[in-house]
Amino acid sequence: MKFYSTNDPEHRVDTKEAVFRGLPADNGLYMPERIDPLPDRFFAELPEMSFAEIGFRVSRRLLGDEIPDADLRTIVEETLNFPAPVVKLDDRRYVLELFHGPSLAFKDFGARFMSRLMHYYNDDPQPLTILVATSGDTGGAVAAGFYDTPGIEVVILYPSGKVSELQEKQLTTLGKNIHALEVDGSFDDCQALVKQAFLDVDLRQRLRLSSANSINISRLIPQSFYYFEAYKQLGTIGDPVVFAVPSGNFGNITAGLIARQLGLPVHHFVAATNRNDVVPRYLRAGQYAIAPSVATLSNAMDVGAPSNFARMTNLYGHVIGKDHPDSETHRRMREEISGYAFDDGATEDAVREVKDRFGYTIDPHGAVGYLALNAYQKEHPRTRGVILETAHPSKFLPDMQRILSQDIAVPDRLKRLETLPKEATPMDTDYISFRKWLLSRK
Ligand SMILES: *Cc1c(COP(=O)(O)O)cnc(C)c1O
Repeated sequence: MKFYSTNDPEHRVDTKEAVFRGLPADNGLYMPERIDPLPDRFFAELPEMSFAEIGFRVSRRLLGDEIPDADLRTIVEETLNFPAPVVKLDDRRYVLELFHGPSLAFKDFGARFMSRLMHYYNDDPQPLTILVATSGDTGGAVAAGFYDTPGIEVVILYPSGKVSELQEKQLTTLGKNIHALEVDGSFDDCQALVKQAFLDVDLRQRLRLSSANSINISRLIPQSFYYFEAYKQLGTIGDPVVFAVPSGNFGNITAGLIARQLGLPVHHFVAATNRNDVVPRYLRAGQYAIAPSVATLSNAMDVGAPSNFARMTNLYGHVIGKDHPDSETHRRMREEISGYAFDDGATEDAVREVKDRFGYTIDPHGAVGYLALNAYQKEHPRTRGVILETAHPSKFLPDMQRILSQDIAVPDRLKRLETLPKEATPMDTDYISFRKWLLSRK
């Protein structure tokens, strides 16, 4: 498969280059050249398919024939070594649990798939070093996703004292090929160090560097698998299916739009946001105005300039540039996506309501999805809605306990983390020290 840039459809690269580059030089985003509907046979067989089989056939469709069957199967099976169960709330509302992976959030799907694809394509004997700056969640998924991948070293920079204790443990307790740098500065300082390394021509002659950025197309592809998996579990008979997706950078919902383009009969998408509501406002009014992000309870969605918006407009026919989608793009997008935004007060009420009415513990991100689904179903009652539960509630333990006034269950793999010793290298914000450290490890 070739991948083109959303800023220039003539700019095409093969899968390997799209995965290692991450971002085209023109600052667009890579998209698969073709997203052709899967054959009728696929949908006839879907009810009997394993999650891994779904992943294999969907990735085959999106990646083309480059990777032999056996290798692609291994990549998919290693990615999907945990389930994505659908839990019923009532006849119209379901929850798709995406938190059964190692870091307890849906980003595990993307990180695991990306690491295995990179490993597959990595034919250079010189080790590859992945640099990641993290404000919390992405780092945990990337660390777990790349853990023990031969030939790939991961260096994670995080701001000292500015990530939660649990997030820090996820970054600093793995060891082996995962190295944590505890930077005496802010997230922006971490990002600046990474950026400077990528711009350092001399360094790049000595070290092979790549990033594990969330806009990498290889993180999006596996996220389309679980839309099929959810549809399979719901059963094909019944009211039309809608997905409510708690959104920040809008990668998750974009993966759903891709699944739909592959032929999955999704009736509608509900984009759910917190007060960072650039996209719901765009859907309503047709004006796309990015804004500084504001801090909320559902903090993994605190994004003021969603990076995947360019992919969304691209899927609806808009090709060049990402700031001013045309009115035809807007019209088409509105037919398939509705957007709703909620503040923290409403989110807390929703966490309590889901617990009281259904006995289900939903995290603040999922709760925003629940609210958005309810808003949509008020107008469209004859639908079956699936809320994507993007993280396990225990990841937000203090907030959850405060909101529900009770203890909540913590999975064993999380409890174990607390007992493991932290290993991180202290680093100041000075680029020279960072560079020296990188080179000293060669
Ligand atoms: C990253 C994240 C989101 C937002 O997903 P996008 O693909 O950026 O829209 C939502 N919930 C949780 C828990 C996340 O970690």
